[in-house]
Amino acid sequence: MKLTILHLYPDLLNLYGDRGNIQCMAMRCRWRGIEAEVLECCSGDRPDFARADIVLLGGGSDREQQIVCSKLLEIRDDFHAYVEDGGTLLAVCGGYQLLGHYYDTAQGRIRGLSLVDLRTVQGSPRLISNVVLESDDFPYEIVGFENHGGRTFTGAESGLRPLGRVLYGYGNNGRDGMEGILYKNVIGTYLHGPLLPKNPHVCDRLLRTALERRYGAAELSPLDDRQERAANRAIVRRFLNR
Ligand code: GLN
Repeated sequence: MKLTILHLYPDLLNLYGDRGNIQCMAMRCRWRGIEAEVLECCSGDRPDFARADIVLLGGGSDREQQIVCSKLLEIRDDFHAYVEDGGTLLAVCGGYQLLGHYYDTAQGRIRGLSLVDLRTVQGSPRLISNVVLESDDFPYEIVGFENHGGRTFTGAESGLRPLGRVLYGYGNNGRDGMEGILYKNVIGTYLHGPLLPKNPHVCDRLLRTALERRYGAAELSPLDDRQERAANRAIVRRFLNR
């Protein structure tokens, strides 16, 4: 078995080392005897969604998002077809914002892909915090770090589920207590950097949905996650006293 991971625009969207998420996915495949291939699609290249099992769209500054926006709009139809066909996607922060209709900044509107019913508006101050989430979709807490000026709102009729409820931190907009979105096999989130190493349960969900789509079934053998679980627990204890 093999999974192909497509990293979109790592030359522009790689804030706080989002690339670590690729390494985590690849290693958790290889530890289970599943081959993992990583394709990097830089800003001059055309991505081949037909080959991809998992796509990562990372975070970026407002300036980088503005540059990447026109590139994304050129590939919008292929990207949309991939998502609607159940393609697995992890979109982080700046990449998450670009899944929606737009991101309004003081410098103007950055158009998004309209793959999901989201709108983002820049606000002040920046929302910077460690984060702890709980979610019925995951067996234990999701922990991470957020740093964004944008406030993201889901459309009233969108039917989008959040990635999790905020127990600590700000989340999508600092108001409604929700963080991220789940849509088909898409995870969108403001949680940056080593999201997946800190949350192997989130990584395995991405691997599972990708394997199911490619092979019709997913057998993920358990890994020894004692250290990852202990690190996750330590964050939960530190910020929630529980
Ligand atoms: N530029 C966006 C914001 O500040 C996203 C930043 C990021 O990816 N950290 O809201």
